Amino acid sequence: VGPEYVRAIAPYQAGKPIEELAREFKLDPATIIKLASNENPLGVPASARRAMETVITGLGRYPDPNGFELKAALAKHYRVPADWITLGNGSNDLLELASLALLSPGLSCVYAQHAFVVYRLATQARGARHIMVPARDYGHDLNAMFDAIDQDTSVVFIANPNNPTGTFLPAEEVAAFLARVHEHHGDSVTVMLDEAYNEYLDASLRVDSARWVEQYSNLIVSRTFSKAYGLAGLRVGFAIAQPRLTDLLNRVRQPFNVNSLAQAAAIAALNDAAFLEQSYEVNRLGKQALTEGFARLGLEFVPSYGNFVLLRVGDAARVNLELLKRGVIVRPVAGDGLPEWLRISIGLPEENARFLQALADILGAP
Ligand code: PMP
Repeated sequence: VGPEYVRAIAPYQAGKPIEELAREFKLDPATIIKLASNENPLGVPASARRAMETVITGLGRYPDPNGFELKAALAKHYRVPADWITLGNGSNDLLELASLALLSPGLSCVYAQHAFVVYRLATQARGARHIMVPARDYGHDLNAMFDAIDQDTSVVFIANPNNPTGTFLPAEEVAAFLARVHEHHGDSVTVMLDEAYNEYLDASLRVDSARWVEQYSNLIVSRTFSKAYGLAGLRVGFAIAQPRLTDLLNRVRQPFNVNSLAQAAAIAALNDAAFLEQSYEVNRLGKQALTEGFARLGLEFVPSYGNFVLLRVGDAARVNLELLKRGVIVRPVAGDGLPEWLRISIGLPEENARFLQALADILGAP
């Protein structure tokens, strides 16, 4: 029953919960480390915890359907009008809203090979045709993506940095692509620029992409509170776009898609510059420790701009199983067309060290 294009969707492969793995591998759940979902190893910022406490008594009521205060805080932070912002239940929700608003059977979307898996899931659910453009050095090939746009294309997805590969497109390349798409296709092709990992970039690489939104009426930029802001479990993300696109996204948005705890916590996290800085620094040092460890083991990895690293281990299924036996959860990415690789989220120093030790054990290195 239902449309054939829904039955054709290859489901998202979710990891097992820690308790289940503990039972399966006879481990103490407290000793298991999870480096699998690109979460913030520092956990929830204390400022967000305090903010959530203040809204608990109000949880008998629905959340603010328009997220007035959070949008006001974001508008100030990104220097855009509040009505250019759409809130989402995680930024996945924004990807889905864009797919709902912009795609249907008969239309097509463009994204890169090895790009974030939700582009495929959200757009297949709309019955849209897929144009998957081969990766270049594990990242997006923007020239090829431009050439791939056809007469049916209504949306192009770009992840910068990309997950699971960790690759990054410099600002000049993205700017040139945006200019070219807008010049040739105007508003008929929307570019969805997914910047979930933006806060992990070195300051010299970060761009104020809200300024691109001012320039291009066909651009949606999405960001999230799940990564550097430490709020993955609350599910809150947002998009910035000019009113024409923001209005479309809001037409297909559920009124109460972001809950009250998430709205309050996100405002606190947005204003917690110290936590953000600490998250960046823990990630920077962890990435250094991991990649130095990989080099010592003679393993190939893709230089990462996110809070994770893609590592070539050869027989990834075997290495993954051996890691699980040692209580270390990472992410196999065979489903992303990378059967020899594992994606390792960057953890706390002791977690990174334990992962490296387990890996050395398994690969029989000194
Ligand atoms: N975009 C990219 C590239 C991601 O890796 C992720 C999280 N895995 C998301 C978007 C969605 O994150 P969330 O829904 O938690 O905001």
